[in-house]
Amino acid sequence: SRMGFIGRLWIALAGIGAAALLFVALMFVQHRSWMETTAEHELFSNNVSMIREAVAKAHILAGEALATSRADLYGQSLSEIDKAISLSDEVGVHIKPDDSEFVSIIKAHTSQLGELKQSTTERWRLAGKEGYATAEIRFHNDFYKALKLSEEITAAMRSRTSSSIAKIEGRFRLKLAIWMAIVVGGLTALIVMARKREKVESVLRQSEESLAHAQSIANIGSWDWNIVTSELSWSDEIYRIFGLKPQEFGATYEAFLSYIHPDDSELVTKAVDTAIKEKIPYSIEHRLVRPDGSIRIVHERGETSYGPDGTPVRMVGTVQDITERKQTEDQLTLASQVFENALEGVIITDTTGMVQFANPAVLTITGYTPEEVIGQNPRIFRSDRHPREFYEKMWKSIATEGGWQGIIWNRRKDGEAFPEWLSITAVKDYTGKAMRYVSVFYDMSLIKQSEDTLRRQAYEDALTKLPNRLLFEDRLATSIASAGKAGGKVGVALIGLDRLKNINETLGFPAGDQLIQKAAERLRPLVNDGDTLARFGGDEFVCVLNDLKDEQDMVKMMLSMLEGLSLPFSIDGRELFITASAGAAFYPSDSSDSATLVQDALVAMRRAKNQDRNSYQLYTTAMNTRSYERLSLENDLRKAIGREEFAVYYQPKLSIKTGAIVGMEALVRWIHPVHGMVSPVKFIPLAEETGLIAPIGEFVMTEALTQLKKWVAHGYGDISVAVNLSAAQFRDKGLLKTIGNTLDHVGIAPLRLDIEITESMVMGDVNAAITTLKNLRDMGVRISMDDFGTGYSSLSYLKRFPIHCLKVDRSFIRDIPANADDVAITSAIISMAHSLNLTVVAEGVETMEQLEFLRANACDELQGYLFSPPVPAPEMGKMLASGKSLYALK
Ligand code: C2E
Ligand code: CA
Ligand code: CA
Repeated sequence: SRMGFIGRLWIALAGIGAAALLFVALMFVQHRSWMETTAEHELFSNNVSMIREAVAKAHILAGEALATSRADLYGQSLSEIDKAISLSDEVGVHIKPDDSEFVSIIKAHTSQLGELKQSTTERWRLAGKEGYATAEIRFHNDFYKALKLSEEITAAMRSRTSSSIAKIEGRFRLKLAIWMAIVVGGLTALIVMARKREKVESVLRQSEESLAHAQSIANIGSWDWNIVTSELSWSDEIYRIFGLKPQEFGATYEAFLSYIHPDDSELVTKAVDTAIKEKIPYSIEHRLVRPDGSIRIVHERGETSYGPDGTPVRMVGTVQDITERKQTEDQLTLASQVFENALEGVIITDTTGMVQFANPAVLTITGYTPEEVIGQNPRIFRSDRHPREFYEKMWKSIATEGGWQGIIWNRRKDGEAFPEWLSITAVKDYTGKAMRYVSVFYDMSLIKQSEDTLRRQAYEDALTKLPNRLLFEDRLATSIASAGKAGGKVGVALIGLDRLKNINETLGFPAGDQLIQKAAERLRPLVNDGDTLARFGGDEFVCVLNDLKDEQDMVKMMLSMLEGLSLPFSIDGRELFITASAGAAFYPSDSSDSATLVQDALVAMRRAKNQDRNSYQLYTTAMNTRSYERLSLENDLRKAIGREEFAVYYQPKLSIKTGAIVGMEALVRWIHPVHGMVSPVKFIPLAEETGLIAPIGEFVMTEALTQLKKWVAHGYGDISVAVNLSAAQFRDKGLLKTIGNTLDHVGIAPLRLDIEITESMVMGDVNAAITTLKNLRDMGVRISMDDFGTGYSSLSYLKRFPIHCLKVDRSFIRDIPANADDVAITSAIISMAHSLNLTVVAEGVETMEQLEFLRANACDELQGYLFSPPVPAPEMGKMLASGKSLYALK
């Protein structure tokens, strides 16, 4: 409106200025015509007065000429008249032709002056004849007439001038009046017009404002595009929507396109092009990018107008900012998706308690489908585990506090009752009255399960499913604590895969992961249930062995692990060989602290890595040497079977009564290619641990029986061979079968075989031992109890075992007769054994005194260096052949 005021002020000033200029011009013109008229009047009045003067002069001269009869004076009078005539002519010349009345007056005047000249001339001529006095009167009359005429001319001229001036004045007044009217009218008109304009403008402005207001409320802006001139005009709201100021916008279609989101510009141009081409309005949604970088979503509509020739000339349309609406829509979709995918059950009921909505989680939790629940009352879930008061309290809380939360027992469709965390909220309308109830709930019985899973996940290595480092550390601490109390040993071994980094780099991490998984699969079965195998880190496993008797057990574990890992792995159809290194440390000898133990094992493993691949190291180096010796022996023992380094020696058994050889004990010997003969005391336990005892045992039995068969065939009497059984062999389920097969295979009677067992072998599972022994006895095989007296068994126990013979241990015999205890014990054993109907054999008999004692105590048989050490088969054969007797010694 400020602009409007200044605008109007300018218009008014311009109007006034123009009026003033025109007025000045009018005055000027008026003045000119006034001046002209006045000048004309002056000219005439000058001339007329000169005419009068000339006439008067001529009158005087004529009078003097008459009085003095002087012709020269009269001639002067005539020239004065001529002068008046020419002046009159001159006046006539200056008269405008249209002023006919005046023209005729002047013409009459001129002609009267001409007549005056003629009449005076006539009178002058007559005066000479008639007398000058008469002529004077006539002159006088003539001149008087002429003067009168001049006066008439003057009067006429005066009246003419005054009328002319009056006319000018009249015209001036008229013009002035018209002018005044025009000015007043114009100003009035201007004011009226300005007033009107203002009114129109304010109406227009109001309608514009209300349009803009409407546009801003609806976020709709309108545009008008002149296709021919490519001019584009925008309403304010469009500028607002585009985030532009009117001066920033080039107001062309191209400029408009530059604000469209790049991904949508094709959509927009296409829509506009097709709308124009197919003569249809278009309606699209697209994005635009504001100068500040923010993105708005708009709904744009447009319609084209066409010229008479069908060419598009104009397009008008609207742009609506629908960003907020879109966001609300998105939020609604989001909300409904949250409902659909929530793990919590959501149920919405109306005020009567009827279910209106149930989400899919309701099915998962309760077993009812949403369709089964909708239209029902949530009472269908009731478990009858709560008293009436519980529900009354719940509804009271909803009514007074607008909600309830707590644990409630509900029942699933299949009848199972379960605890549920339930939250009920009353949704109120604007008056505060509840219109719906929203229940959100979840199954609490699931929480316990998930807690278990979480705990497992926290302690489990995801890749191998082995315990992870955390659990390993926990277990190691526990192991150490319990070993500390019981005074036991714990071993920790780290096993590192050597080439994993390489495999990851060349074949990729999935291959590396597969390798770790397969390595874990191989290692797991090697570890007992009470012990722990865990994944320590990237390419490292860790093993904890509890109740370790011997460091060697850990060495064996590491060896079996290294062996297991040395076999090829099949990864993605490819055979991969890897090596591994292991290191071990022990509690309490290396450290009593779990972290240090692991550190020690790591140090040992690094050492192994730096030495041979596929090797192990113990943290304490001295242990390494010991274990190395054993290890090499073990390795040699394995090879010894194939290389047939075993031999069977025989030690004769003699009857004390007759002194004759009644049998022999088969004793195995290992002829080591480097160490020579290795004692069975050294290698039998090793063979037991490694399982090599089975083939060795079978070899000894076959060899001994085959040999015995030959000797029997030679007729060396009613002899038998005693074969030692190790604990492992005795426990073996296939023992009977093996012995049976061997006997069959060799083809010899079972009673030729004497099996030697020890007390400790039968002490563990007595019943199982009795069964085995009974079966052996039933087969016809003889059984001897070896090393008797070293174990814990009492003689009363022996009654229960179906044995034939008892061998008194060498330790009792050794100090006979010097040791009285041994003497007493041995004689007691002999008499007790006899009371149980058992044959008694004395072992390790070296002296004659011992022999004497045994004979005196009625011992049945003996074995010992006194007669012969164990000897190879040929020597034994010679002994048999010679029929050598115990008593031939003397
Ligand atoms: P054992 O069954 O008690 O065998 C008797 C051992 O005493 C033999 O030692 C023998 O050489 C030794 N010996 C015999 N008479 C005398 C003597 O007068 N004085 C002394 N000091 N020693 C005597 P060897 O042959 O070294 O066997 C040691 C042990 O090895 C055997 O003790 C037996 O337990 C075991 N053994 C030997 N051969 C076999 C076998 O084939 N299988 C099994 N399972 N164990 C065997
Ligand atoms: Ca023996
Ligand atoms: Ca023995």
